[in-house]
Amino acid sequence: MPGERARVIVMNSALGPLDYRVPARMPVEPGSVVVAPLGPRQLLGVAWDADRLSAEEVGDNRLRNLLGVADVPPLPAPLRRLIEWTADYYLSPLASVVRMALPSSSALEGAKLATEYRATGHVPNRLTPQRAQALERIGDRQGLVRELATIADVSDAVIRGLVKAGAIEAIEVDIDLPYPAPDPDHAPPALSAEQAAVSATLRAAVAGAAFQPFLLDGVTGSGKTETYFEAVAEAIEAGRQTLVLLPEIALTEPFLKRFHARFGCEPVAWHSGLRQSQRRRAWRAIASGDAKVVVGARSALFLPYPKLGLIVVDEAHETSFKQEDGVHYHARDVAVMRGMFEGCPVVLATATPAIETRHQVALGRYAELKLPGRYGAAQMPAIQAIDLLRDPPPRGRWIAPTLTRAIDDTLGRGEQALLFLNRRGYAPLTLCRTCGHRFQCPNCTAWMVEHRLIRRLACHHCGHVMPTPRACPECKEEESLVACGPGVERIADEAAALWPDARIAIVTSDTIWSPAKAAEFVARMEHREIDIVVGTQLITKGYHFPDLTLVGVIDADLGLSGGDLRAAERSFQQIMQVAGRAGRGDKPGHVYIQTHDPAAPVMQALVSGDAESFYAAETEARQDADAPPFGRFAAIIVSSEDRDAAHDAARAIGRAAPRVEGMDVFGPAPAPLSMLRGRHRFRLLVHARRVFPVQEAIRDWLSGVDWPAKVRVAVDVDPYSF
Ligand code: ADP
Ligand code: ZN
Repeated sequence: MPGERARVIVMNSALGPLDYRVPARMPVEPGSVVVAPLGPRQLLGVAWDADRLSAEEVGDNRLRNLLGVADVPPLPAPLRRLIEWTADYYLSPLASVVRMALPSSSALEGAKLATEYRATGHVPNRLTPQRAQALERIGDRQGLVRELATIADVSDAVIRGLVKAGAIEAIEVDIDLPYPAPDPDHAPPALSAEQAAVSATLRAAVAGAAFQPFLLDGVTGSGKTETYFEAVAEAIEAGRQTLVLLPEIALTEPFLKRFHARFGCEPVAWHSGLRQSQRRRAWRAIASGDAKVVVGARSALFLPYPKLGLIVVDEAHETSFKQEDGVHYHARDVAVMRGMFEGCPVVLATATPAIETRHQVALGRYAELKLPGRYGAAQMPAIQAIDLLRDPPPRGRWIAPTLTRAIDDTLGRGEQALLFLNRRGYAPLTLCRTCGHRFQCPNCTAWMVEHRLIRRLACHHCGHVMPTPRACPECKEEESLVACGPGVERIADEAAALWPDARIAIVTSDTIWSPAKAAEFVARMEHREIDIVVGTQLITKGYHFPDLTLVGVIDADLGLSGGDLRAAERSFQQIMQVAGRAGRGDKPGHVYIQTHDPAAPVMQALVSGDAESFYAAETEARQDADAPPFGRFAAIIVSSEDRDAAHDAARAIGRAAPRVEGMDVFGPAPAPLSMLRGRHRFRLLVHARRVFPVQEAIRDWLSGVDWPAKVRVAVDVDPYSF
């Protein structure tokens, strides 16, 4: 459209679409990534379909020229429709959603080489402690100066000094290097009859290239991955791209290995741990269509695949698919919408589907595919409850006698055990025995959690850390601080005291913080260098260890407190998932769940294996409360560092609430975390009927209220907790 107007979404969330003139011979079309002038500045933007967005009226004589267009393919039309839908549904600025589709600006330059740095092995004459630390932490890794400085936790100047001293050298990396093409016939498995039936359906859906969501519902270890790999093979044969979303980057590494075994090379990975050059290479390969299979975290959902043929959401029940800041989207739901705009099947794979997903099946919108038994000789583990009132652990300990004996037996047979407690650190609360002082985060309504391995107290909400003091800061009494309750580190201590010869590993986001760390852990498990794993929810998903035969859930009641309507469902999913780690090989598995309330419906459902009646009762409770998937919620979070300003704004918003049939507004009340990262937070909860146009109502409502600049108002449509 040279010589014409272009309507552009510029990368500034406070601005709506703006019109520009396209200079002669500049190849701009809808989706083109452009550089636009704004006042004295230059901003990145994306040209949009002019008939789909309105912009401020500007006369031809006042139009400014676009400054340039990036040498990358335009964002494809189905992606543009997805971006519009996401902004509309989640009440977010278009620019905030578009930004998720774009790479960092460096990937837009046509360069084929990037300059990175790596250690040479030469030790500089002047080896300061900082230089030594930098060289040790960098090891054999490479990256930009900034990236190496971050890895080494030193300033950029230290890295530059090491370059001058010859200890670090610059290297050119080829960022245009093509990725190997996965081979659909590399090593196809012999499928079981059930798997073959399911994979035939999925292959047909990929070949048909039409939108269809599937729930692939198969127990842990039933071979869901192997089965949807057949659909991936079909997409590769058809020359179309596949996106596989995983909930956790720690799972990428085992996934890459399995993919390699099946298809002969690794897929393209996309997650927050990539170096800038890797990110740039991946983005360009995705946008050109050269990347055939992409596995990634939820952010991979908005990338510009030109010919998507299949989307898989693995572990689709996972809560981490919900983004909790910026654009508050749910990747599972947006994946289904992307499939709709692309016209391709979407597979939600899980052993414990969300009630929302089961409801879509009941309505006939999603097709259900079932793998009811484990693959091969593996059996589902037996699940048994331990009543902590009748069979209590010794004072000050958390492992009950029955579980202790079971671990004795397991280790005696040379097998591996897993103890699950969804709490990082040593103890969730530290207090002074003399004066009762408790350690609270200065920025959040939260206790500081003791991490004994690093001798620090840490806030799990904002990351604030402080050294664990020797004396109470309040009464100055020495040696009077006591740890209350257990975290994984404390359970690991207890296990070490009970089984002094056992090799114990702690698996949490503190110990497994990168794909490489995850790979290291998997290798140690496989080589039998670990006897007992103590882990948080990080250990509950994806992993397959044939010699792991015993799972102990330390506190099955933990997730049930708080009175959230989702609590029972979430506990059921989490415990079923961790139970699913037991007995995946040919040795039978056993699961013990320690609880104070073995009669609770969720415990009964876990022990009896009767998921159906549990889900039926939970669904009925949701229906009675008119909660999702029947009714709908949205949360409006009003926050500020100034408590009064936040409170006043929240009340003003509350007073302006529309009084209409089909929508109720509750609050404002202090939000569940009433202070977070130094900001005071108030929440209004909107409850609406399913069919009520809640986005439109909230948009109109908020546009009629003003609040001071120091107040931030965020809307969370379909909030996770309600
Ligand atoms: P899920 O994803 O349902 O938990 P997996 O796909 O991880 O199950 O399968 C469990 C185990 O069974 C894995 O080790 C997998 O390699 C193996 N497996 C599944 N299907 C087959 C098959 N058809 N042939 C060989 N091994 C299989
Ligand atoms: Zn905090």
